[in-house]
Amino acid sequence: MRLDIITIFPEYFAPLDVSLIGKARRRGTLDVRVHQLRDWAHDVHKTVDDTPYGGGPGMVMKPEVWGEAIDDVIGDGAPRMIVPTPSGRPFTQELAQELAREPWLLFACGRYEGIDSRVMTEYGSRLRVDEVSIGDYVLAGGEVAVLVMTEAIGRLLPGVLGNAFSAVDDSFAPGSMRNLLEGPVYTKPPVWRGHEVPEILLSGHHGKVARWRRDEALRRTVAARPELAAAIDPETLDKHDRRI
Ligand code: SAM
Repeated sequence: MRLDIITIFPEYFAPLDVSLIGKARRRGTLDVRVHQLRDWAHDVHKTVDDTPYGGGPGMVMKPEVWGEAIDDVIGDGAPRMIVPTPSGRPFTQELAQELAREPWLLFACGRYEGIDSRVMTEYGSRLRVDEVSIGDYVLAGGEVAVLVMTEAIGRLLPGVLGNAFSAVDDSFAPGSMRNLLEGPVYTKPPVWRGHEVPEILLSGHHGKVARWRRDEALRRTVAARPELAAAIDPETLDKHDRRI
């Protein structure tokens, strides 16, 4: 997968050199290219923002500089363009799965009050453009949101996770974990500071362990995210599930 990121803070993306994503880049699974937006600004101050039409506080990122940057980065190509913004569609595991199937993504990191809306209109006629929010809070810029999305997408690419089945059992994973949070996990020793690992996990009985994991996932979802639990398709619940 090719991934282009346009930002005024390229240094934010240093963490993409480490861990799973760093390895995926070195292996060639992920080709990340970070671009400094100011390289496309023409004045001596490398200005990328201006005052908002209609008044109000803050500054808005200028369309001309974004237009030149995007045109040069994509050439004749057509990546899917992702614009992080708190007013976008929510970033979910399902969207991460969808984006992981794309060959090329372009992330446009906003700052200040965001990017002049005409940039999304302009590229929306040529590319698939999604404005995406990583949560109901406001960050100072799109860089952290892009790091979040890159990690969530990157770990789904073939060969990136040591064990491909890890992603199947994750919270929110499509399939049996859709709308469910993963339950608690344990490792050795069997007793730590008087706290015991649930006996069923030591039993070696795969069927009972799977049942216990599903029960715990349901309990945790009902307690922590009742709205997710309410959205579970009743058709997917068995008699045992319904008791929880
Ligand atoms: N005035 C904007 C609003 O209220 O929607 C917030 C602008 S915010 C200070 C600056 C930039 O941070 C945004 O353009 C966006 O790129 C990024 N950003 C902030 N919160 C975000 C979120 N929850 N998800 C994705 N991007 C976010």
